[in-house]
Amino acid sequence: MAEISVKREECVGCEACVAACPFGAIAMEDGCATIDLDRCNFCGACVSECPYEAILLVKEEKQEARQAARGVWVFAEQREGAFSTVVFELLGEGRKLADALGDPLCAVAIGHRLQDHVHILFEYGADVVYLADHPELEHFRDDAYTCVFVDLVNQYRPEVCIFGATSTGRSLAPRIAARLKTGLTADCTGLEIQKEERLLIQTRPAFGGNIMATIHCRYRRPQMATVRPRVMKKAEPVPGRRGELVRYELDPSRMAVRTRVLQFVREEVETVNLEDADIIVSGGRGLGDPKNFKYIQDLARAMGAAVGASRAAVDAGWIPYSHQVGQTGKTVSPKVYVACGISGAIQHLAGMSSSDIIVAINRDPDAPIFKVCTYGVVGDLFQVVPALTEEINKAKRG
Ligand SMILES: Cc1cc2nc3c(=O)[nH]c(=O)nc-3n(C[C@H](O)[C@H](O)[C@H](O)COP(=O)(O)OP(=O)(O)OC[C@H]3O[C@@H](n4cnc5c(N)ncnc54)[C@H](O)[C@@H]3O)c2cc1C
Repeated sequence: MAEISVKREECVGCEACVAACPFGAIAMEDGCATIDLDRCNFCGACVSECPYEAILLVKEEKQEARQAARGVWVFAEQREGAFSTVVFELLGEGRKLADALGDPLCAVAIGHRLQDHVHILFEYGADVVYLADHPELEHFRDDAYTCVFVDLVNQYRPEVCIFGATSTGRSLAPRIAARLKTGLTADCTGLEIQKEERLLIQTRPAFGGNIMATIHCRYRRPQMATVRPRVMKKAEPVPGRRGELVRYELDPSRMAVRTRVLQFVREEVETVNLEDADIIVSGGRGLGDPKNFKYIQDLARAMGAAVGASRAAVDAGWIPYSHQVGQTGKTVSPKVYVACGISGAIQHLAGMSSSDIIVAINRDPDAPIFKVCTYGVVGDLFQVVPALTEEINKAKRG
């Protein structure tokens, strides 16, 4: 793709480039800089840092590679043929990106027995669906899915690939990016196209949500991002819409897969799935003990809500990680979010502050959660939560 070299006759061995390289790709040999091409990201940091103009980065080659790249790809995450909600959000956003680039919108479906399910991807806007369907791909395994996706990228050379920032997407996308030696921006909250250079402008919160960072991947392709569920708007489906189906023939002998799925154990959930819930009741460290989550579960059941948690409660082992809301957990935007014994740290707010109505129950009147809530109750949750549950149940009975 790109070429970079050191002009030995110009290099004086000052080592400015060694310090400038963010990838540790430059070392000194016999008083002259040498570049490890396996590590080099062709970012050009060394070129601009070299006072002697001794490093040559060939941009024409990059342009060729960039011109060859076409298509916006969405990873169509699924389980047993049911596509994750985030896929339809990515197709909605992907449509805008594809239109801005004048490229097709494509979905990549990897799994088994998907033939009867992929039509929905066309209905939600995909022009092309790449389908890898094989018993070996039935369950998500990083090695296998990475191998298939990378193979597809090498064959069809997309400009942009986007993934849901789910556990699967967060595991898969970095592996693919590393294999393709391209950049990846995780947890984007905004994507747009800068048309002149066909750049994907990726926006994401940084430093605990205190600033918004804008990131682009100028020299490598594809441009890759993960996007948090519930951040982008779902595409509008067009029933009966069709597109081109491209089948990928898997050769299992080419896959170096190090894991086997022995059993798939479903987590028993009594209440509604967090990301799809209209109402969420969350508990934090204020609960004081894992057994006290029963107060949260009782209220959630009464309200027909899902159960969420702060990271403090998850880290204490009181509730599984799948319930965590926040920067390193799930992003949710329900109609009603009830925070019980949660202080309202910025990392927690990052995952729930876009809820329509926030109800906070906390005994500390100065807790930061009161700054973002719609309704606040200053009081002991062990009194307030059971009383609220009782009132709701009474109202339902009545
Ligand atoms: C990189 C990074 C990522 C992070 N990601 C996340 C994330 O995804 N999600 C997340 O939640 N956090 C995250 N955190 C942690 C975050 O900074 C806070 O530590 C965490 O949110 C605190 O959880 P908490 O509010 O339950 O606990 P605390 O901050 O300890 O708050 C407990 C609250 O309970 C109240 N309380 C105590 N007893 C009662 C009672 N009887 N009745 C009523 N109120 C009571 C207290 O007044 C207090 O306000 C992250 C931190 C970092 C550094």
